[in-house]
Amino acid sequence: MLRTLSCSSSLGFCSLFFRFSLRHFPRSYSSPSSSVAASFASASGRNLRRLSSAPGGRRLLLRPGSRLSPAVARGLNGQFSRLSVRAVATQPAPSYPDVGQDEAERLGFEKVSEEFISECKSKAVLFKHKKTGCEVMSVSNDDENKVFGIVFRTPPKDSTGIPHILEHSVLCGSRKYPLKEPFVELLKGSLHTFLNAFTYPDRTCYPVASTNTKDFYNLVDVYLDAVFFPKCVNDIHTFQQEGWHYELNDPSEDISYKGVVFNEMKGVYSQPDNILGRTAQQALCPENTYGVDSGGDPKIIPKLTFEEFKEFHRKYYHPSNARIWFYGDDDPVHRLHILSEYLDMFDASPAPNDSKIEPQRLFAEPRRIVEKYPAGRDGDLKKKHMVCLNWLLSDKPLDLQTQLAFGFLDHLMLGTPASPLRKILLESGLGEALVRSGMEDELLQPQFSIGLKGVCDENVQKVEELIVNTLQKLAEEGFDSDAMEASMNTIEFSLRENNTGSFPRGLSLMLQSMAKWIYDMDPFEPLKYEQPLKDLKARIAEEGSKAVFSPLIEEFILNNPHCVTIEMQPDPEKASQEEAEEKIILEKVKANMTQEDLAELARATEELKLKQETPDPPEALGCVPSLSLSDIPKEPIHVPTEVGEINGVKVLRHDLFTNDILYTDVVFEMGSLKKELIPLVPLFCQSLLEMGTKDLTFVQLNQLIGRKTGGISVYPFTSSMRGKDEPCSKIIVRGKSMAGHTEDLFNLINCVLQEVQFTDQQRFKQFVSQSKARMENRLRGSGHGIAATRMDAMANVSGWMSEQMGGLSYLEFLQTLERKLDQDWEGISSSLEEIRKSLLSRNGCIVNMTADGKSLTSNEKIVGKFLDLLPENPSCGPVGWNSVLPIRNEAIVIPTQVNYVGKAGNIYSTGYELDGSAYVISKHISNTWLWDRVRVSGGAYGGFCDFDTHSGVFSFLSYRDPNLLKTLDIYDTTGDFLRGLDLDEDTLTKAIIGTIGDVDSYQLPDAKGYSSLLRHLLGVTDEERRRRREEILTTSSNDFKEFAEAIDAVKDKGVVVAVASPEDVEAANKELSGFFEVKKAL
Ligand SMILES: [Zn+2]
Repeated sequence: MLRTLSCSSSLGFCSLFFRFSLRHFPRSYSSPSSSVAASFASASGRNLRRLSSAPGGRRLLLRPGSRLSPAVARGLNGQFSRLSVRAVATQPAPSYPDVGQDEAERLGFEKVSEEFISECKSKAVLFKHKKTGCEVMSVSNDDENKVFGIVFRTPPKDSTGIPHILEHSVLCGSRKYPLKEPFVELLKGSLHTFLNAFTYPDRTCYPVASTNTKDFYNLVDVYLDAVFFPKCVNDIHTFQQEGWHYELNDPSEDISYKGVVFNEMKGVYSQPDNILGRTAQQALCPENTYGVDSGGDPKIIPKLTFEEFKEFHRKYYHPSNARIWFYGDDDPVHRLHILSEYLDMFDASPAPNDSKIEPQRLFAEPRRIVEKYPAGRDGDLKKKHMVCLNWLLSDKPLDLQTQLAFGFLDHLMLGTPASPLRKILLESGLGEALVRSGMEDELLQPQFSIGLKGVCDENVQKVEELIVNTLQKLAEEGFDSDAMEASMNTIEFSLRENNTGSFPRGLSLMLQSMAKWIYDMDPFEPLKYEQPLKDLKARIAEEGSKAVFSPLIEEFILNNPHCVTIEMQPDPEKASQEEAEEKIILEKVKANMTQEDLAELARATEELKLKQETPDPPEALGCVPSLSLSDIPKEPIHVPTEVGEINGVKVLRHDLFTNDILYTDVVFEMGSLKKELIPLVPLFCQSLLEMGTKDLTFVQLNQLIGRKTGGISVYPFTSSMRGKDEPCSKIIVRGKSMAGHTEDLFNLINCVLQEVQFTDQQRFKQFVSQSKARMENRLRGSGHGIAATRMDAMANVSGWMSEQMGGLSYLEFLQTLERKLDQDWEGISSSLEEIRKSLLSRNGCIVNMTADGKSLTSNEKIVGKFLDLLPENPSCGPVGWNSVLPIRNEAIVIPTQVNYVGKAGNIYSTGYELDGSAYVISKHISNTWLWDRVRVSGGAYGGFCDFDTHSGVFSFLSYRDPNLLKTLDIYDTTGDFLRGLDLDEDTLTKAIIGTIGDVDSYQLPDAKGYSSLLRHLLGVTDEERRRRREEILTTSSNDFKEFAEAIDAVKDKGVVVAVASPEDVEAANKELSGFFEVKKAL
């Protein structure tokens, strides 16, 4: 599912690998999906490290503080909204290269239909491959970020996870590319702007993107060969490695399960939100393919046989069952050339009939399900229930009009903190945070869900009643016109902006189109939103919003018996019970084996390990196409930056084409803040946006922001600065608006900063419990982030601050705050005021603006007026917090079946001086040594390293890892790995090109301006960027050997933090007596 940024969502959406971006390169900045999320992203201290794993495409379209249902986003996400159509009308109509009917015929295709789609300024042609029936959408426009995707319909019949394991396995070697993992070679050595694969409940999707045409076609060829001719169907080892196998290192030891997908899914099944999502989907659709888990249930995965796995590939990975998407500025004839080479090798198959998704029939009666989830022993378990109502909206897909209207309704009810359904549920005090909220329409039949977590057992019933009563009230009363206008503007703005963040625009469009196309509906329709939007607006204007929306609530929700209520109860025994059950099964397996069987299994384990750890021969590696250094631009990407002043305040201006939008960041210095106030900063930021002023309630303020701007967010930013003791610590206010609304934007920023009153105790209470719930979720789902922040906090002040505002200390702070809130609200309120006083000053303030030159100049006066209103606090200068956490090895114990293991140390302390080669080397360590050992043979879902070039901290991290101490051994031998490396020219070149791909990652204009601001704040000059690039391009194999010495510092002096299960921590402390200080967290 694309609505959340988490890897595995309630839709059961799994991606091939967990993408972990390095923090040194400001990767494309994407508008945070909410102001709070923003404060997280930066409070975690890994400001430039984006933990983007799933394509959060749609989510990223939205203005901060709001959400838009996929229905609206899908319908609406085009390059130009109605507003801008006029603006582009003066440009000559674009003409894109064409494929003639004859030419298509000659290549084996027939042209089915073609259209110019003004919403995305693209010419789209639907072809059908005559021999196999394979359908191809070929979209031409002037977007250099080219996208290719091939999608198969892959409905599973059980929860063995076949589609998911296959998704991982086909990228492990193919006919033309017979090496272990061509996918990893592409990760290492291409300029891809996107590379991953996903499993949906009913389809499997393989997308790639690049701005470099040669690179793009290389990626396409490797992917096509992988899906049609993978080695995995003839090689049981891949199935074992990616799926599951018994591991036995020595006949005297216990047998264990291993497998990348197996452990990935164990992680998924350790998270309550995920369990809820899966339970809901399966309960809503017990009769069709959505009643099972395409990702795989760890209890059922070991039932899967290699024969079934092969058969699934034979049946579904066939051109007749495929849909292919091309998008961008490349030659459309060439696309068909590439495809015909593959497709012509096949004859038509009956697969499309076998893979049809049958609709779920509607229930006659509502249902109710009670499910347990693994919880820790600490805290009040009575208060940890979750309850959620889920509706299957219809027995067939909705027509576009209804879907669009429902998307609007979804935004009106839940889109912003001021939206009534969200607001009433959170204000009720019946729960801590929303779960599974909103419309889901990427599967055949749309769903709507809403619920709360952190609910007291005796309040479960009350929550259910409140949800139904509120929906009834909304159906009866309708929505007020300010709310309508705010939603309308938000949606129109996001259309116009079409800001998909780091997610390629072409891929976002592909997923929108696919959501209908995959069910044999019109692939063009979801791309054309203008007319339906216009019609909807006209209907609202004519009949009133109530006439449009109330019938939807009544018909599809209130009077719809296909409703499943799910209650989730915390069970402190569940995690260890499951662990024990697994142990018993494995003991039985062992007991049923003869000595010979056991010896054979140990031999097979050894054989698999050996195979995994043997590098590919150079001939095999050489067959993966790659670029050469001469294809790489010598200069870093230039971002126009003019540093000036307005009324004595420093102003950075970036003259870039932004389609008439102005992006601004106002930066304040945090350095004079009292130490004990730091953990309050994230809540301070949220309060600014979500409490009212003397004249405006928070709802009014929120609606005003929605009506006049594209959104405002506020969050802290901290980082170390190279060569300095004091960290860079700021509060950043981000805002955007149409250039004509800049005055409104700055007025509202001023209002938020200066006029908001910190007096609403009840709202503040909600912020605290929501933040607590979010931190708990983060601990379970992103334990590696928590571990990394914790290790940073032991190393430097910036890390310490981040930990105070987004790590384990922050969670502990929130727990205490929640308890004392009622006794000392006065004190807390005045602390918030004190933070404002300390931060809000013209001194040290910086304004950053990204827009075209004309808007930059014309808005100078407005900015000046805004700055003049800021108080002139003579800064008392940095107070010098000078704090770090005590250095010690820690295990943070949580109820989980998989671990997150980290180790970090400062390599500058050894005298190492930063050189661009460090980027190449750390990427190489992640993609070879850690990938092979921690993931491939260790069985973890991810293993990677991260070098913070500002502080010098080098960290190793693992993700959903079945091991603990074993993983540390791998980290500690990294130096030896580097010393033993025998790098040939080709491998080195690939490593360099891949690194440049990271440095040059594709950015939309707002992201370019923002990255440039961060570089300015951290003192990274253009001169330094040029030098680093030069160093990257000239990295030699000797650099790798020298780096080994530096990295040994992590082994010798590094600190270890793991987020892990109680059983594994106990075992580790037995093996290495007292190695870990144990901290209980949940
Ligand atoms: Zn996966």
